Amino acid sequence: MKKGADYDLIVVGAGPAGMTAGMYGVRSGLETLVVEKGICGGLSNEAPEIENYPGFKKVGGMELAEKMKEQASEYVEIKELEAVKRIELMEKEMRVFTEKGSYLTNAVVISTGTKHRRLGVKGEEGFLGRGISYCATCDGFFFRDKPVIVVGGGDSAVREALYLRNIGCEVTLIHRRGELRAERYLQKNLEETGVHILWNSVVKEIKGDKAVRGVVRYDKKKEIEDELPVEGVFVSIGEEPVNELAVQMGIMMDKNGYIIVDKSQRTNLERVYAAGDITGGVRQVVVACAEGAIAATAAYNDLLEFSVK
Ligand code: NAP
Repeated sequence: MKKGADYDLIVVGAGPAGMTAGMYGVRSGLETLVVEKGICGGLSNEAPEIENYPGFKKVGGMELAEKMKEQASEYVEIKELEAVKRIELMEKEMRVFTEKGSYLTNAVVISTGTKHRRLGVKGEEGFLGRGISYCATCDGFFFRDKPVIVVGGGDSAVREALYLRNIGCEVTLIHRRGELRAERYLQKNLEETGVHILWNSVVKEIKGDKAVRGVVRYDKKKEIEDELPVEGVFVSIGEEPVNELAVQMGIMMDKNGYIIVDKSQRTNLERVYAAGDITGGVRQVVVACAEGAIAATAAYNDLLEFSVK
């Protein structure tokens, strides 16, 4: 294939979806490059424990990501710490511009994942790294034996709360509704650990001096405001798609900014595919891997036709 291009396939983003796409691309015979702005693994690096990835009863997110990188690197070239700035669609090929150079390719998989949603309250930006965190496994250690709150009611929030409790933090979970969204299994674990839950409550402000000293909590049911003395605030209220490239390229997205794909992971643009969390839906590592494999396989099939044109 290849002809005038540097690569048959460039995969943007090296989370579980991107690494799998890279591996499947090379194994099907495509000259493939994976480009990643940070390090391999994406948000899965932050998962304290993964218990539902088949073949592993329990594995740390970072450990799983490392294993995936080790395996993928046996096949595919992965460039870390190289952010893709834009992708120019040309008559036949596409040019991928990174902060270090540019590459000509015949096809692209976008697997740029998601980023943490921000609370958007006073003090959040200012105390970033000084008591505000979006990742318990990264920062939890600094808060051992200290009072912390976890904000959110989904799988991530409960996992973060369990992790922090387990390493010895004094944990309170604060959730805006009266019931959790997290899976039942996690909820049961949470009950057993005795993590205190503040229901129907939101954080209105984060206060402190050099570091966080407390939060202003609003109880929506009782309609009262109080101040909770905490030293750590772990925000875990979901994710947003990292879709700047999709916007720049004119890829079709849904109303929440996730890329729309068909069952072969094709986007509305020819030879442009998307895989993993950036496509929304069931955001699980196992799904991301599957989508990466499907995207690379679709690219291979389409490039076979492309090369005979
Ligand atoms: P999520 O499922 O979207 O949950 C976000 C939580 O934050 C919800 O409880 C939501 O409240 C709350 N929230 C959203 N915006 C808020 C705001 N502005 N203020 C206060 N609270 C707010 O997100 P997630 O937990 O990060 O999970 C993302 C995806 O990854 C999900 O598909 C999840 O299943 C998956 N995941 C799975 C596991 C696992 O172990 N299986 C672990 C981590 C993540 P409401 O409930 O009221 O909407």
